[in-house]
Amino acid sequence: MKTAYNFNAGPCVLPKEAVESTINAIRNFDNTGIGLMEISHRTPGWERTMEETRQLWRELLNIPAEYEVLFLGGGASTQFMTVPANLLNKKAAYLQTGVWAKKAAKEAKLFGETVIVASSEDKTYSYIPKNFLANVPADADYFHITTNNTIYGTEIKYDLEGCPTMLVADMSSDIMSRPVDVKKYGLIYGGAQKNVGPAGVTFVIVRKDILGKITDRQYMNPLPTMVDYRTHAAEEAKNISMFNTPPVLPIFVMHETLTWVKNLGGVAEMNKINLKKSAMLYEEIDRNTMFRGTVECKEDRSIMNHCWVMAEGRENLQDAFMAFAKERGMVGIKGHRSVGGFRASLYNACTIEAVEALVQCMQDFEKANK
Ligand code: PLP
Repeated sequence: MKTAYNFNAGPCVLPKEAVESTINAIRNFDNTGIGLMEISHRTPGWERTMEETRQLWRELLNIPAEYEVLFLGGGASTQFMTVPANLLNKKAAYLQTGVWAKKAAKEAKLFGETVIVASSEDKTYSYIPKNFLANVPADADYFHITTNNTIYGTEIKYDLEGCPTMLVADMSSDIMSRPVDVKKYGLIYGGAQKNVGPAGVTFVIVRKDILGKITDRQYMNPLPTMVDYRTHAAEEAKNISMFNTPPVLPIFVMHETLTWVKNLGGVAEMNKINLKKSAMLYEEIDRNTMFRGTVECKEDRSIMNHCWVMAEGRENLQDAFMAFAKERGMVGIKGHRSVGGFRASLYNACTIEAVEALVQCMQDFEKANK
């Protein structure tokens, strides 16, 4: 098979081991003689897999007992609505660091007053606004952030200190890339299709005591059954684990992917590898006379998504570099249309060898065009 280095922004590269064991399970799940996609989700082997997957989340992120771990459908975009449905009584605050954050805030507006605390839209979201916590209203029900801005390559790489209200985070594109202090958040959610599996399952980590508190709101109150997190949480508490049919295949891949993270030494170890890969690529972007990074300030640079464009005066070589890189097996490095240029996503499963190949490719292109 042709060598391809997968830098797609998501869905993206998965650990080889997870893909291989899923192929086997699709043929024969848990030695039942029946394939993963053909089993009943009430078979003991599946119930065990579901619980093990939850346990892997708890173990890897050190999730305290007062939090539920839910696996839902609908992608992170459905959570843009489900989060305010469950938590927005009167007012919410949002940090607008990209179009995903903007889309999340748009849904919140359906439920109540929504304050945009700060935005970097003025410069195509090429930076993280500074000192934004000072603008968070203390009477907001929660403050929503997007920790990693997949399209623009910016990231809040630490847990915020001193937030005046409950913190909610979309961690779709950096979950499991570094340790997170879950206790600092009321709720964390995201689509699986970057670091934890394929598209089709959405994770929600939610503190139980913040649910069921909607009293003042007119809109969507009471909540439809499937929208209410308690529906899914209660099922877990009863140890049935599943209110309705779960997306069995993506959850299985998640189980295998998290097992791979665990075997590698956990998220702290993952973080070390990610920092190394990221530094290799940023060093080359900064060194290479052909290119320049798009994020304004180095401290805002994402360790997951790396964005760069042709350097001034070299813009005419953009298509040539794309063709050069394609020829060498680089896949998925075209930048999002709103930023242009190039983006390489170095998620957990992206190997050091892939980053080395990309760096070499950039160096060779420079030599060939000097
Ligand atoms: N939030 C972030 C940060 C994303 O990167 C994405 C998709 O790339 C989404 C939300 C939307 O996720 P989904 O496609 O699962 O709805």
